[in-house]
Amino acid sequence: MAEIEFFQLTDVGCVRVENEDAVGYWPHDDGLLFAVADGLGGEAAGEVASSLALEVLGREMERAPGTWPVTKRLRRAVQQANLEIHTKAITVPDLRRMGTTLTASAVVGGTLVAAHVGDCRLVRLRDGALTQLTKDHSWVGEQVQYGLLSPEAARTHPRRHVLNRCLGRDLIVGIDVLSTDVRPGDVLAQLSDGVHALVPETEIAEILRAYPPEAACQTLVRRGREAGGDDNLSVQVAAILDCPAPSPRRWWRLGR
Ligand code: MG
Repeated sequence: MAEIEFFQLTDVGCVRVENEDAVGYWPHDDGLLFAVADGLGGEAAGEVASSLALEVLGREMERAPGTWPVTKRLRRAVQQANLEIHTKAITVPDLRRMGTTLTASAVVGGTLVAAHVGDCRLVRLRDGALTQLTKDHSWVGEQVQYGLLSPEAARTHPRRHVLNRCLGRDLIVGIDVLSTDVRPGDVLAQLSDGVHALVPETEIAEILRAYPPEAACQTLVRRGREAGGDDNLSVQVAAILDCPAPSPRRWWRLGR
């Protein structure tokens, strides 16, 4: 059983009228599942896409056979979310071209399994050092990975909002799934681009080092707003207080 202190916050920001981000969490017997989605599309379509992604994720994780490993459950749940958003996007005129990013992390005992599509970020603070565990599926993110653009230039680049992958756009989507160990003392955080584009990584690390989850979420959102808050801002912070050593057997246990 993992002992986790968790908090999440989503904020409309200073410029946008609607909050198209969505956050959700589902505690289970062995730990916690938490997810952030950043919707896109005209009018209210982005909001529909991001909340539908979380709804399908929670439902499918609950429904999946208990014998499936968490990696398979997460991948299938995200595939299903993509399918349902895509179907709505091509059949409901008002929701045409809607899509969403989705980053979901499941802490199960001493293991973290994450599924990721888009440009929200999952980061981990361990022994004081911050590591980004997900890759940004954005045009600028790819340029940075190829060494063609510096991370600083990417933050203000005019194409910074262009996504290479999102849920809902195509029938099939490439989903990154990662699994790694978690240790007591680790802090996991998920941030929408409205936060990580405006708050420098060194400052995110400082805030996660200095504050427990609730104060860290409030501080990160406040810093994003002070830096302009031109997008919706979402943060989730999970501090791992205690967890068992990772064991493959635990992968089969989630919520039942
Ligand atoms: Mg955003």
